[in-house]
Order: sequence, then structure tokens, then C-alpha cells
Amino acid sequence: MNLQKQDARFIAHTYHRYPLVLVKGKGCYVQDEQKRSYLDFTSGIGVNLFGYHDDDWMQAIQAQLAQLSHSSNLYVNEPAVKAAELLCQKSGAQRVFFTNSGAESNEGAIKAARKYAHDRYGSERSEIITLCDSFHGRTITTLSATAQTVFHQHYMPFTPGFVHVKANDPKDLLEHVNSHTAAIMIEVVQGESGVRPLTQEFASLIQQVCEQRDILLIVDEVQSGIARCGSLFAYEQYGLRPDLVSCAKALGGGLPLGAVLFFDKTKDVFQYGDHGTTFGGNPLACVGACSILRRCQSDLYASVKEKGAYLKAWLTQMPHVKSVTQMGLMIGVELDHLDARAVVEECIGRGILLLTAKQRLRLLPPLIITREEIAYGMHILHDVLAQASSKSTV
Ligand SMILES: *Cc1c(COP(=O)(O)O)cnc(C)c1O
Repeated sequence: MNLQKQDARFIAHTYHRYPLVLVKGKGCYVQDEQKRSYLDFTSGIGVNLFGYHDDDWMQAIQAQLAQLSHSSNLYVNEPAVKAAELLCQKSGAQRVFFTNSGAESNEGAIKAARKYAHDRYGSERSEIITLCDSFHGRTITTLSATAQTVFHQHYMPFTPGFVHVKANDPKDLLEHVNSHTAAIMIEVVQGESGVRPLTQEFASLIQQVCEQRDILLIVDEVQSGIARCGSLFAYEQYGLRPDLVSCAKALGGGLPLGAVLFFDKTKDVFQYGDHGTTFGGNPLACVGACSILRRCQSDLYASVKEKGAYLKAWLTQMPHVKSVTQMGLMIGVELDHLDARAVVEECIGRGILLLTAKQRLRLLPPLIITREEIAYGMHILHDVLAQASSKSTV
């Protein structure tokens, strides 16, 4: 039996995978079992920040592996302390709770926000406002937070207490803020729904509403954070001052790691026993995070912005492209009426890997991608789009 058949036989059918078996990678290239190379614009969905087989990250993990790979949260572990210190120093956060994924980070942030509101205002204040077309994860509670009806099926009852308002619609927001509102939870750039940035006006309104009413601002930076958008977190470019931030994806550089960041108001919300995890903050994932975070600084941010603009310039002049949304190296491409998945499948055949997000193409290349690699990949995408016939329309 070949590997694809075994995959279908033994692994739950939750992903409609592309027919591709990846074996190893280096830098921005990854190889399949036939030793064909692919230029990668996915980073494993925003995870492998500095490409495959990143030397600094690998050496840090190999050294730690020979020392201690897991010890539990009952004891102090240096890599976790160092990773938390780096996150706090670079963001202005006061404390960190480590998790293993984005969904868990959002769960932690939601729990902290509810406890903050409960401690101060009682149990009536528990609602969390989230934005239409958001994505916050796959647990029952983070699906409740995710304001997309496609996700609100099969698993009833969902966690109550989530209110959905339209993104970039001040009126809708103001109509739903009331004495029950504990927090407003946002992605400043909605990733899974196609790389849709909030307007500055709407982001500023949220900040204002939160500050006036002691409503907590939760920013989900799982996809947009850790230098992806040209700053440690994307919210910085909006001038926001969140109370809770969740991150994951690129934080561990390839090992499962997420974090909840607590700022001034929320730093003491969790007391001993209020929250926990077996794996979160394990030393192996955390030395990886230290390797990643040490490199998150202004020269990297400048190059991410510059490469993002370069990619956008390529994309905007391609056939079938209606619009391009971009913040650093997080890029969405709206096509006229081509099926995004069909375009991605065609690109695989031509040796480049891209993502989709809803009906858009999405690019999350490793931040180390060079201008030459971008040009090479964009020539191919240009060809694929130019040759796309009406057969591949939706
Ligand atoms: C990917 C993602 C999540 C979920 O992260 P998991 O690690 O898959 O649980 C949550 N929020 C955003 C914005 C994401 O992009």
C-alpha cells in the first residue's frame, strides 16, 4: 500500500490533503519522496518562520534534548523562563502562560478575561464580542468565538456568551457593547478568512470602547504575530494596547508552543490552581522559542516589510488578480472567478507551494525568503494564472 492510501486508511479524514508526501527541507525549499523540490510560500501554515532545517533553532533543540526534554510545570525550567522573559521584554507584557497551540492560547485568554470581569463585576459580565469571519480555533469554546456559521454545526451545544459583530462596522459594534461585555476579541488581520486587515478607524474605536468601560481587549496574534507582519505583533502597527494577547504558530519555530501574554490589568488574574497544562512551556519547545525570539528585532522587521511590498508589487499585476491584501509577509490574493484550490494544485505541479484562505490565495513564506526566490516563485504563479482557463472557475 502506498503512503497516501495508508494515510486515508489510518488517519481521520479531517483534512482534504494535496497528493504530496513531503520528506525533508532546507531553507525555503522542501522535497517530496521523488526528490522533487518545491519553493515554499506556506511555512507549514505560518510555523517555520526561518525556513526548514533552521540551523540556530535545530542546534538549540539538539542541545536541550541531550539535557532535559520534559519536566512538568511543577518545577522551574530555564528555557521557559528565558522565553517568557524575551516575550515580555519585546512586547511590554508582564507575564506569560505557555500552551501547546493557538486554540489553547485563546482558551486561556478567554478564561482570564472572564475571571477578570467576574472578580470585579460579578457573573453577569461574561460576554465576549468577536468579529464576523474571525478564526480562533477548533475547541468548542474557540469555535463559539469563531464568528463563521460554517463552524457552528454538528457539535451543539456550543459555549454560550459570545456575541458576533461585523468587522469594520462601528455601528454594529456600539450596538452590542453593554454591561454584560467582558471583552472584545479580535485578529487585527484575519488570516483564515483571507488576510483581511481591520481599518485603523475600527481598531481605534475598539481601543477607546475598551478603555472607557474597563472591557478587556484580547488580540489573537496566533497567525499575525512573531514578526510575520513586520513587527513582533501586528497590533503594534495599529497602536493598540491589548490586555491579553494569544500567540502560537511561529512561536515554537516548528515545535508545538503557544502563549497567553498578560499585560498590566491582567497580570494577576490567574492565581495558583486557576489554570494549567501538562506540556505547555516544555523546555524543548521553549529553547526553540528563544532561538526564534532573539532574532525578532528591527532589522528583521524592516526586511519583512520590504519583501512584503515586493511580493505585493508582483501579485497586483498578475492576470485574474482582483485585489491583494498584505501586511508584511502575510498576504491574501483575491482572484476574479478562479478556484483558489485549483490554482494551488496547478502550482504544486510547477514546484511551488501556496495556501488558500476561503476563496483567496494566501502566502505566508518563510521570513528568510530572498528577492530571487520571490521572483522565481512569482514567475511561476504568473504563468499558472495566465494559463488558467475558465475550466478552473468556481
Ligand atoms: C491557526 C489559528 C488558530 C488556531 O491555532 P491552532 O494551533 O491550530 O489551535 C487560532 N487563531 C488564529 C488567528 C489562527 O490563525
